Amino acid sequence: MDLAITYRCNLNCAHCYNGRERNYPELPTSEWKKILDRLWQIGIPHVVFTGGEPTLRDDLPDLVGYADQLGMVTGINTNGTRLGNRNFLDSLIQAGLDHVQITLESHDPSIHEAMVQRQGAWQKTIAGIKNVVDSKLYMMTNTTLLSNNANQLEETLDFLSELKVPTVGLNALIYSGKGNLYKPVCGRKSCLPPCLNLPSKRQIKTSSA
Ligand code: SF4
Repeated sequence: MDLAITYRCNLNCAHCYNGRERNYPELPTSEWKKILDRLWQIGIPHVVFTGGEPTLRDDLPDLVGYADQLGMVTGINTNGTRLGNRNFLDSLIQAGLDHVQITLESHDPSIHEAMVQRQGAWQKTIAGIKNVVDSKLYMMTNTTLLSNNANQLEETLDFLSELKVPTVGLNALIYSGKGNLYKPVCGRKSCLPPCLNLPSKRQIKTSSA
């Protein structure tokens, strides 16, 4: 089960699905712990802390640790910018975190930063990806496939492979929040053919290597 523990975020994606104001009131730690108790009681074995940006909550290690103590599998969905801080990542690992999903929109800093609307964000997210790859956590990246980045998908996948990212995911636009108004959607004409042709193209490269 995904738990949106905050609506705050340190990025400002033009396609953000977050439908509430950034300062929308958040539940305190004690309330989230009651929710975790209840979820465990009714048989939910696995929670993913998301947002907004879940790493902006100072009590994230506490919440991860509480869920872990109950016996749950725990993960976070994050933009990765705070995971470049190894001490912070270690605090989550020590609390019992099992897996991390980090969103990287492109191998190209200018495309990524145009999409997340924050200068300097790419380098921070890459630092986070490298730290997580070097840890014992299960990890994957996620890329929102839009017309901004779809034509460079092959280069982005190669880049992630060079970083030794074990698993990648692609998702479409989520039609909520700013996503409802977003125009450069990946449509069949503009984006899908290069993506759909990728597997056969890569197979040809591999078999002729
Ligand atoms: S899509 Fe995620 S990373 Fe981007 S602004 Fe929204 S909450 Fe933040």
